[in-house]
This record gives sequence, C-alpha cells and structure tokens, in this order.
Amino acid sequence: MWRNWGGTYSVTPQRVVAPRDALEVSALIVEARERGTTVKPVGSGHSFSAVAVAPGVQVDMSAMRGLVAVDAAAGQVALRAGTTLHQIPELLALHGLAMPNLGDVDAQTISGATATGTHGTGLGFGGLSTQIVGLKLVTGTGELLTVGPEQSRLLAATALGLGALGVVTEITLQCVPAFSLRAQERPERVDEVIESFLHNVESHDHYEFFWFPHTGHALTKSNTRVPVETPRSGPGSLRRYIDDELISNQLFRGTCALGARFPAVVPKLNSLAGNVLSPRTYTDSSTKVFVSSRAVRFREMEYAVPLDRVPAALGEIRRLIEKQRYRISFPIEVRAAAADDLMLSTAAGRTSGYIAVHRYHGDAQDSYFDEVEQIMVAHGGRPHWGKMHTRDRAYLRSVYPRFDEFLAVRRELDPDGVFENPYLASVLGRGD
Ligand SMILES: Cc1cc2nc3c(=O)[nH]c(=O)nc-3n(C[C@H](O)[C@H](O)[C@H](O)COP(=O)(O)OP(=O)(O)OC[C@H]3O[C@@H](n4cnc5c(N)ncnc54)[C@H](O)[C@@H]3O)c2cc1C
Repeated sequence: MWRNWGGTYSVTPQRVVAPRDALEVSALIVEARERGTTVKPVGSGHSFSAVAVAPGVQVDMSAMRGLVAVDAAAGQVALRAGTTLHQIPELLALHGLAMPNLGDVDAQTISGATATGTHGTGLGFGGLSTQIVGLKLVTGTGELLTVGPEQSRLLAATALGLGALGVVTEITLQCVPAFSLRAQERPERVDEVIESFLHNVESHDHYEFFWFPHTGHALTKSNTRVPVETPRSGPGSLRRYIDDELISNQLFRGTCALGARFPAVVPKLNSLAGNVLSPRTYTDSSTKVFVSSRAVRFREMEYAVPLDRVPAALGEIRRLIEKQRYRISFPIEVRAAAADDLMLSTAAGRTSGYIAVHRYHGDAQDSYFDEVEQIMVAHGGRPHWGKMHTRDRAYLRSVYPRFDEFLAVRRELDPDGVFENPYLASVLGRGD
C-alpha cells in the first residue's frame, strides 16, 4: 500500500512499475490504454492532496534519476524526471550552477515538485516550474513528445501539468551561476511584521515569516544573494544541529504531541517557543539556506492570493482562530512570488502572496482548514495543487484565466483520460 508523507491519502495500486526509460514508459501506457486502466506517475509522495493517488498503474519514477546533459554556456541542465531536489545541487555544483530558487525541503522529485507548482519565496522569482525551458514526456497515446521554448503553449501547460498530460521523463532547467545566501532570522512583533510585509518582500531577495498563533511573535527570514565565494559564517554545525534538529524538530515534536493531547496548553507552548527565539545571521550555499529539515509530520493547506491581499487575509485568520478558539501548534508561513504565465500556476498572471496553515498530524480533525479556506476564497485565492483544499473545477475555472486552454491541451495529449484519478476528475473534470 502506498501512503503519502502527510498520511492524508493511501491507495493500493493494481500494479506498480518502475520504468527505466521513455520507451518502457510508452509501452506501459499503450498497454494500460488497451486494457482501459489508468496510469499515474508518482514522485516522493510529498503532496498532501490526492493529486498523486494511483488506483491503476502506479509509475514509480525512482529508476529514472540523474543528469542527462549540461549546456554550460546557456546554463541549462537536462535531468531525468525522477531526480530528487536533494540530488540536484551536487550535480549542478560540478558545473558551477545552481537552481535560482527552492522551497523549504528537498525530498521531492523534480517532476513531482514542478507538476504541482512548488515554490519558494522572493518577488524576483517564480515557482520551480518557471525554471523549466524544455521537457520530454510520454502522452496518453504513448507518443514521445519533446517540448521546447518554441512550443510556448505546450510548455505553459506541461511545465505545471498536475500529472494530467503525460509522464514527464526529462526536464531541462534554466540554472544560474552558483551563489550563496546571507540569512538573517529575527524574532519580531507580528503586528509590525504584517504591516511591513509588502515593503519587506519588495526590499529583500527572499523574504518570509512564520507567525506563532495565539502569540504576538513572528520569526522573519530574509535571505540576500551573495557571491558563491563569500566565506561561510554564522553558527557552527553543532549550534545549527541544536537549533534546527533538536529544537525545531525533536523538541517541537514533543510540544506538538502535548498540544494534541491537551489543546488548552497550546497558547502557552507557542508563547514559550516565541520567547526562546533568538536572532541569527549566517552565510552558506544557496541550497543549505533555502532547505530545512521537517521531521514533524503535519497536514498543510496553502493558498495564493494577490500579494496586496495578504495583510487583510492574515488579519481575518487571526480573528478566526481567536473567535473559534482553535488551538494551533504550527506556525503560519507567509511567502511571495513573481507573476508567471503558466496556465495552472498559482501565480499565473498575478504577483502572489502565499499563506500556509498547518496541523500536527496527531491533532483532532476540526473545521480550521475549511474556515481558513473560506477566507482565502473570498480573496480570490488559488489552492496549492499539492496541498489540502476542497475546490472543484467550477471554482478553479473562475480563478484561472487560462483554465480552458489547459483542458484543451489535456484533450490533445490524453484523449482517453489514461492519466485521470479521482482528484483530477474533481479539479479538471472527467475527460473534458
Ligand atoms: C514537508 C513538506 C514540505 C513542503 N514544502 C513545500 C514548499 O516549500 N513549497 C511548496 O510549494 N510546496 C511544498 N511542499 C509540497 C510539495 O512540494 C509538492 O506537493 C510536490 O508535488 C511533491 O513532490 P513529489 O515528488 O513528492 O510528488 P508527488 O506528491 O509524488 O506527486 C505530485 C504530482 O506530480 C505528478 N508527477 C510526479 N512525477 C511525474 C512525472 N514523471 N510526470 C508527470 N507527472 C508527475 C504526480 O502524478 C502528481 O500529480 C511540501 C511538502 C512537504 C510534505
């Protein structure tokens, strides 16, 4: 049985296959189509939504990893689609290159991360899919298709395709020269942080903050891009192990478990956590600063809203938590990204702010996510495709100007719905 990281969905596929190349992928799609079975590629199972649930043939991408080619002059790198984000920095470093931006963790595959619109923070940067300049995929009829920048319509669909358009076998990324980041983390008052958010995202390369519900504490993180040869500085590896592993993971796991058993103590625990935060500044390679370890299991919902809506939406979420007396042990994470022109990107056509809410996996189910979702919807929010949400095709069509164009590409590339699963049927419709 397959289960996703967050434990929100599981399935026992009819068959699991781990193809080694595009021809094997094509053969299994042709066979499945003949038998009337569905096919679903999966990456690392890090989506909280049911996007990767594969009731028919599950295509495990783990035998398709590694570097295919490097164009050093153009700074472009072709990778096999199952390569994990964790493997990529080492492959790129050999060529003095790096990915321009990353999210919080690196366990995902490059195909899974880009299929759902995974993003980091920084108004000068789009999500990971915007780094794609070309890809290869096998369509629902078993055809091998190469998509490059000259096929702009196909690229705008397949670079963020939800796994609905084909099995991607290779991805070419536009990289940048390797760089380091100077990170500044600071505890601050949340009122001021929210008030200055729009200014701070404008004035830093990569800015985000975490608000500890029930408290006035927020932790801000501002990362500044500096040359790769800038000497590493800041806390040594022992101090970082204590901060990032022992406090951020092990101790946090304990307080979350306590909060799940005794919800009344959550505000006190959050306040204690907020009070022990201390400022720190350090410089390291871009990946080491972007990526953190997330060992405590949680469920997550994240919405993108027009950037200027972030302060109002956050104010409403704060009032909701107070009014309904929800007890939330996980910080709320707030980020931003540049507008792009990918058909199903949460930042399509608009500069976006991202608000992510979490629950510890052991917390009792309640209506917190549903009520936060209503707030985000009122602000024209677009749900992250890989995180919890309840939006259907009618709603999604109303917030994505290029939604019908995506459906048209889907009809061309997957005419018989070979890649459909219940999630895709709900968000895109059945074979339409
Ligand atoms: C701890 C944690 C931290 C996270 N941090 C962030 C973050 O900072 N920013 C953010 O935006 N998101 C974040 N996410 C969400 C995560 O990045 C996405 O859900 C991502 O899709 C997971 O990638 P995966 O490899 O696990 O893909 P899966 O979840 O396995 O699959 C996701 C989708 O990709 C499709 N897919 C996979 N391989 C292929 C292929 N070869 N061809 C076509 N389609 C394919 C699948 O069919 C499915 O539709 C986080 C998730 C977790 C659990």
